[in-house]
Amino acid sequence: MMGKQAIYWFRRDCRLTDNPLLHRALQECDEILPVFIENAQLNQATPWGFSRQGSHLRAFKAQLLVDLRAQLERLGAVLWLAEGDPVALLISWCRSLNIQHIYAETIAAEEEELELRQLKEAGIQVHSLFQSSMIDINAVQRIITYFPMSFTRCRQKIEALGLRFSMPLTTALEQFKIAHNWRESEQSRFVLYKDLEYQLEPNTSLPVVNGKWITDEERVKDYIVNDYLGAHHAAHYKLTRNQLQGVDYSSKWSIWLAHGIVSARTLMHELQHYEKTVVSNESTYWLWFELLWRDYFRYLFYQRTTCLFRYQGLSAEPISAPPFNKNDFLDWSQGNTGFELIDAAMRELLTTGYLSNRLRQVVASFWLYHYRGDWRVGAAWFESQLIDYDVYSNYGNWLYIAGKGTDPQGGREFNVDKQVKQFDPNGDYRQRWLGKH
Ligand SMILES: Cc1cc2nc3c(=O)[nH]c(=O)nc-3n(C[C@H](O)[C@H](O)[C@H](O)COP(=O)(O)OP(=O)(O)OC[C@H]3O[C@@H](n4cnc5c(N)ncnc54)[C@H](O)[C@@H]3O)c2cc1C
Repeated sequence: MMGKQAIYWFRRDCRLTDNPLLHRALQECDEILPVFIENAQLNQATPWGFSRQGSHLRAFKAQLLVDLRAQLERLGAVLWLAEGDPVALLISWCRSLNIQHIYAETIAAEEEELELRQLKEAGIQVHSLFQSSMIDINAVQRIITYFPMSFTRCRQKIEALGLRFSMPLTTALEQFKIAHNWRESEQSRFVLYKDLEYQLEPNTSLPVVNGKWITDEERVKDYIVNDYLGAHHAAHYKLTRNQLQGVDYSSKWSIWLAHGIVSARTLMHELQHYEKTVVSNESTYWLWFELLWRDYFRYLFYQRTTCLFRYQGLSAEPISAPPFNKNDFLDWSQGNTGFELIDAAMRELLTTGYLSNRLRQVVASFWLYHYRGDWRVGAAWFESQLIDYDVYSNYGNWLYIAGKGTDPQGGREFNVDKQVKQFDPNGDYRQRWLGKH
């Protein structure tokens, strides 16, 4: 008797600890087949002619999958990996292995929701959970009765009612049992080898050890506790967070959060421990504040009643999008606008797959208000380049700056000269990426 068998489909939750859905799957099933599918559609071009996913993101995923696979192997399990159409592959695996159940996290965006619907339509029992926010979505829904509201109101409400994150879960991973025939499959081979040949740009602001990003779950936690919190960077975060380059001026948690290598509540749990045992100040509070921004965009997508990927954004009234000007786009995206700060930033993004929050705002504003570009083109370019690409944070921030989301001010336009004077007065940043001055 085989008992209950299921596939656990890792999506943007590539971790084994504090993963509530995986925890549930381990409790409810006798044998679990963990899988990751690289969606081949991401290698196709956007309507504007560039690939939906660039080399940085692919390489980061390849590296994290090597680590996830090794972690599972240490538990006696095996990670199936494939590149293709996730729905078609999952259906064919369920049929050939006679598996009725799939566990997969809910991602509140059209394409990802469609995938789960198609699996259900194929007769598979899909168990899903929205689990990427720091604060439990049900708790938020109980206190926030209407949405969208501005970030400030939402935060004030959460803080006034004392709503916090729940404790990270501890999971007995030794329950990870897999069937013998799953182990020997072709799919248990690694498919993203070529992407591991990627060469990291030495000037990246992301933390790097021995020429590689940190992607192993345990090493990531170790880095956060010992290298970031342990070196007291969190205690100065509010003073440094608007800097343009360097590893420690901001937390860099986004690269791990985006792929789910670590959960937001684990981060908050560690931060709270730091606050209790070392120091609690405005800077440590500000990390919570920023993580609330991350949550806020999640609530927005979760509770939306309309598609957020339309040009008009949240507005009910259709607005026609500006025409696509390829030359403007190439100048902006390749860093050839003639505005040094913009060009330096766009080259950093192009060569490293990361950009500071300050510069993301400035270059987004430049695309929107200097070139009068379609916000969706800018967002798609970020999606293709950013290692920390996250559907909610990326599209949420773009909508916000474009004034098509929930910004009470109706959009944000940044004055480039002012930004230069304030954030790069000596030209160090521009020098690094443009090689002059
Ligand atoms: C146009 C634009 C696009 C963006 N696209 C993304 C994206 O695809 N993925 C992504 O993770 N972030 C995105 N951000 C938000 C923010 O720029 C990054 O989260 C941040 O720069 C990542 O670096 P960090 O982890 O060192 O941030 P820190 O400054 O250390 O902040 C700590 C954490 O708070 C959260 N956070 C901080 N600022 C924001 C914000 N404005 N919105 C949402 N969450 C925030 C992130 O999870 C971040 O890791 C975007 C911002 C803009 C303006």
